[in-house]
Amino acid sequence: MATGLEVNWFVNVAHAGFMRDCEMLSLLLAKRGKLHCIHQRVLFVFMLFKITSGSLKENTAELMAKYPLIDGHNDLALQLRILHDNRLGLIDLHNISNVATDINRLRAGHVGGQVFAAYVICSAQEKDAVRLTLEQIDVVRRMCTEYEEFELVTSAQALRSSKKIACLISIEGGHAIDSSLSALRMFYQLGVRSMALTHNCNTPWAESSSKLYQFYSRKNESLTNFGKVVVAEMNRLGMMIDLSHSSRGTAEAVLRLSRAPVVFSHSSAFAVCAHERNVPDELLRTLLFFRVSASSLKEKKGLVMVNLHSGFVACGGKGNVSVAADHFDHIKNVIGAEYIGIGADYDGAKQFPYGLEDVSKYPALIEELLRRNWTDAELAGLLRVNFLRVFEAVERVRDELVASRPAEEEIPLSEAANPCRLVLRPTKAVIPSDSSASLNTGKVVQISLLLFALCAVLVQQTVLM
Ligand SMILES: [Zn+2]
Repeated sequence: MATGLEVNWFVNVAHAGFMRDCEMLSLLLAKRGKLHCIHQRVLFVFMLFKITSGSLKENTAELMAKYPLIDGHNDLALQLRILHDNRLGLIDLHNISNVATDINRLRAGHVGGQVFAAYVICSAQEKDAVRLTLEQIDVVRRMCTEYEEFELVTSAQALRSSKKIACLISIEGGHAIDSSLSALRMFYQLGVRSMALTHNCNTPWAESSSKLYQFYSRKNESLTNFGKVVVAEMNRLGMMIDLSHSSRGTAEAVLRLSRAPVVFSHSSAFAVCAHERNVPDELLRTLLFFRVSASSLKEKKGLVMVNLHSGFVACGGKGNVSVAADHFDHIKNVIGAEYIGIGADYDGAKQFPYGLEDVSKYPALIEELLRRNWTDAELAGLLRVNFLRVFEAVERVRDELVASRPAEEEIPLSEAANPCRLVLRPTKAVIPSDSSASLNTGKVVQISLLLFALCAVLVQQTVLM
């Protein structure tokens, strides 16, 4: 790409040539009283703007071709369910109407990696969240294997070397695992490499930043003992811990506990827009280090991937590219460009700033940051290098823990009070002899089946969204 000096030289030459022409033209036209050089100077400023913005555009395209974007959060799968009932056979993913994401626009936006969320709404908690999550993982896997432009990846190495649009799968909301470490492990086996601990609802073991739902309200228990085991198990598996949507208390508890760096996959700067989904400066700083004792700091080197949704960047207004860029500048000032990425939230959120309406518009943002003197190295980090660093660090922790056994803790039933949860074992208090034990086991199974049937009826009546 052209250096600043080359651009300046070009501008100076253009200026000199244009001014010479301007003066000659003035001589000719001023006599006729039709044109004043002031007009030509305005024209020059316009030309200068065209030359500068032209070179910025070229520089942006060159930079993004070299460092294709890895975006941390996209909800296309949710829209596929809502609009098309996950029937991929009925649509062409190259060009989909009524959404912000399709293959043609991902390519125009220089996207080289996309984390697709397997998200299910909070009202599925205590009902069929696990089934719905499986169906969302299924649709992402099918989408990313049926189209040659996509490549489903599950490792940092595969993500780094992919020449296609690499797809990673994340789960958005810990209610998806129904407080089951087995479910968490099986989701990992299906390719899930990141999980947000909560969405807009508490789980029995972690707390949301939102109070929209009444699930599992509690005080001073931002991460329960079972929640701590979930964090440790995610470290052991090599699954990224995503703190977007978590309450501040949960985020702080995770930052203290996690052996691996964590991410905010789609959150912006609270200091610029005071929304509960955004990250306050103090929490940004703990992403890098966390004080484990009076004298020691533990390095985390996490990542905050900025959400572009108008509601989180412009706080009420629609905003524009500049308003979105303010969040990047702010976070850079607080913790440095090394810890920033983009998690735009397309197709999850509805409204985006002018000029950033869909996945083809990322270059407008990069161009704005170039204009604000972000260096090529900082932008390479923002686009993909920082995410790869965190993913690799998470995998290194997994490798260090390779000798650890899978956690077998179960959440106490009193904490996961859920009528749809069956326990297929006799209780100790009712086992006086072998025969009565089998009788009681039979009763438990009968009651369980009854509850299961009841739940099935409830689930049938539940509308997804
Ligand atoms: Zn979200």
